[in-house]
Amino acid sequence: MIVRVRIAPSPTGDPHVGTAYIALFNLIFARHFKGKFILRIEDTDQSRSRPEYEKNIMDALRWCKIDWDEGPDMGGPFGPYRQSERTEIYRKYVYELLDRGHAYKCFATPEELTEMRELAAAQGKRVGYDRRYRNLSPQEVREREEAGQSFVIRLKVPLTGECVFEDQIKGRISAPWADIDDQVLLKSDGFPTYHLANVVDDYLMKITHVIRGDEWMSSTPKHILLYESFGWKTPVFMHMPLLLGKEGKKLSKRKNPTSIFYFRDSGYLPEALVNFLTLMGYSMTGEREIYTLDEIVRDFDPKRIGISGAFFDIQKLGWVNQKKIIESIPEDQLWNRLSDWKFNEAFMRKLMPLVHTRIKTFTDFIQLCDFFFIADMKYTPELLCPKNVSSDVVSCILQGIIWSLDEQEDWSGAGLEKASHEASERFGVHHKKVVMQILFATVMGKHMGPPLFDSATLLGKDILRVRFLTAIETLGGISNKRMDLLKKGWEKKNCRELAGAAGAVQ
Ligand code: GLU
Repeated sequence: MIVRVRIAPSPTGDPHVGTAYIALFNLIFARHFKGKFILRIEDTDQSRSRPEYEKNIMDALRWCKIDWDEGPDMGGPFGPYRQSERTEIYRKYVYELLDRGHAYKCFATPEELTEMRELAAAQGKRVGYDRRYRNLSPQEVREREEAGQSFVIRLKVPLTGECVFEDQIKGRISAPWADIDDQVLLKSDGFPTYHLANVVDDYLMKITHVIRGDEWMSSTPKHILLYESFGWKTPVFMHMPLLLGKEGKKLSKRKNPTSIFYFRDSGYLPEALVNFLTLMGYSMTGEREIYTLDEIVRDFDPKRIGISGAFFDIQKLGWVNQKKIIESIPEDQLWNRLSDWKFNEAFMRKLMPLVHTRIKTFTDFIQLCDFFFIADMKYTPELLCPKNVSSDVVSCILQGIIWSLDEQEDWSGAGLEKASHEASERFGVHHKKVVMQILFATVMGKHMGPPLFDSATLLGKDILRVRFLTAIETLGGISNKRMDLLKKGWEKKNCRELAGAAGAVQ
């Protein structure tokens, strides 16, 4: 048997360190067992997938030196490797399931579904859909179709018994079927759901081992049922422990730095990030902590993969990074690596227009531009809060700006400028005296410097997001209750009540 493994990221956001982490274990597994590692893009969620996110995923993985053998960019014997180019394939297979009686057409309207969900929630049931269209007669199905009623195709999940499977990391897993919904396989727009496309592709691409994050474990029974319904052999499942943030919860961009580009732009070495990420899920023999990718490929033993989640500890990453600088970059190459990072022609050329009229001597340059080269900003409430504006209001304004930038999907200077005006209007606070002051402090760690919006463009989204989050954290964070109120106000485009007296600052 030739080992074939894959990662199947969805291009719906910034390239996440979790993607690199799972990719690494797939890569290591493939290389150790002399198999193939495939990159498949799961872009069936039409409303959230973007080509630029796909490009970012590939660029980020390449920066980590994670190479794949087959993928959308290079093709391969089982392509296409982008799910949006495979829609017809999924339709064919789902109709096969329908013919075999393992799936059915469901005509529930959105109103019916909401009603069912509410009822199930009130009764404390885990399954939200009451399966009311599961046993329609063929004639009734035909009549509804002829009447033009739209439908989805659902999987017939057993009503009793349990799904039992062997996970190669977690051991024996069992899940009662009664807790599992009749999963939608094909949506009313003819697009497959993740479950259908994922299983069909893993089968057609001859995937032997599915190595993915723990968060997919609850989907596995449905996947196993799909394999069985098609009459296909199931691959081996291996669910990797999750990367956890400080609070012990799944690493989330709402609280932690998660974009691979953040680590690149903050001056970490790809070999350090890679070493660190493998440490999160694996222990080398002799508890070695510093090693190369080649070394872990050589020594790899799936039994040494951890079972429970690992804390993504940035301090530890810093330690690994320093070790790598000392041990793997000779002194005479350090300058090359630093210049690859930011001390290069391309970056400096972009920076010069921001500096040109703002320095008396060349020594002013470092002072003016320090924040482009610093990762840990030293914020204080005094720095971040304009006169007469409380920490709480400043945090809320920063959070509103994050939402605005995410809604616009534009974190460039232009996006930030728009967000700053939005915040000023919605909170009823002075644009220049309040919002711009907060932004200068957050972006640059000072109140004067090069032009704010151009600087933001040059810093990039990933650094900016983390600066916003760190500033909010410095100010004491936003409680869940406050966050709910803020969200409501932000959606109604009116947060004046939250801003309270700060609205009077003119
Ligand atoms: N598209 C899923 C993701 O975004 C793939 C999960 C899997 O590996 O099955 O991670």
